Amino acid sequence: MLDKSRLRIAIQKSGRLSDDSRELLARCGIKINLQQQRLIAYAENMPIDLLRVRDDDIPGLVMDGVVDLGIIGENVLEEELLSRLAQGNTPSYKTLRRLDFGACRLSLAAPLDFNYTGAECLNGARIATSYPHLLKRYFDEKGIQFKSCLLNGSVEVAPRAGLADAICDLVSTGATLEANGLKEVEVIYRSKACLIQRDGEMSADKQQLINRMMTRIQGVIQARE
Ligand code: ATP
Ligand code: ZN
Repeated sequence: MLDKSRLRIAIQKSGRLSDDSRELLARCGIKINLQQQRLIAYAENMPIDLLRVRDDDIPGLVMDGVVDLGIIGENVLEEELLSRLAQGNTPSYKTLRRLDFGACRLSLAAPLDFNYTGAECLNGARIATSYPHLLKRYFDEKGIQFKSCLLNGSVEVAPRAGLADAICDLVSTGATLEANGLKEVEVIYRSKACLIQRDGEMSADKQQLINRMMTRIQGVIQARE
């Protein structure tokens, strides 16, 4: 059983945010004994438990109040927020701080031979993405119609496979796009990792711990600038 008096923090178990998330917590002085396969890791020197999950689950865990804090990419957070709003829910959470890692951009990319002249030329196109709500918000703001093709992986192969005309996917260097005969044509969202907190009351002890963590994070990030 999880002890509710301990601060629960959700981080990505393995992926692009894991090492940086773990390092940030370590630099906050939190001693974590990570046994690789464990879902939960207990801090040795502070009343903190780490939940190690898939990044996609982190916004929901915080919005549902299951964990106190989470470290997550803004792209995943914003997509979950828009998704819950679209379902008529009113999700709540607080962003405590934008962090200095996990930078990437969500971009539209089209085949190299596509004569791209602006977002309007994608009117009516089918676009493959794992981020249907962020994509819809972008096109809605421009009054452009599109059809989506929801894929949770291998988005970049969709045009070649004849599944879509273009894609909307995360990019950091552009190498994956190039390898798949695609070119980045529009950035629709710029993202970094951020630290979020559940809504609602915190016990005085937890709040004090969070305040201390925030002071340390501030120091760590300033030292790296
Ligand atoms: P999980 O198994 O936890 O679901 P995943 O495969 O969905 O992992 P990762 O590829 O590890 O996710 O990416 C996690 C987050 O890292 C992204 O949502 C994004 O915020 C950030 N990120 C930074 N650079 C990149 C990049 N080049 N490509 C994809 N994500 C990136
Ligand atoms: Zn994921």
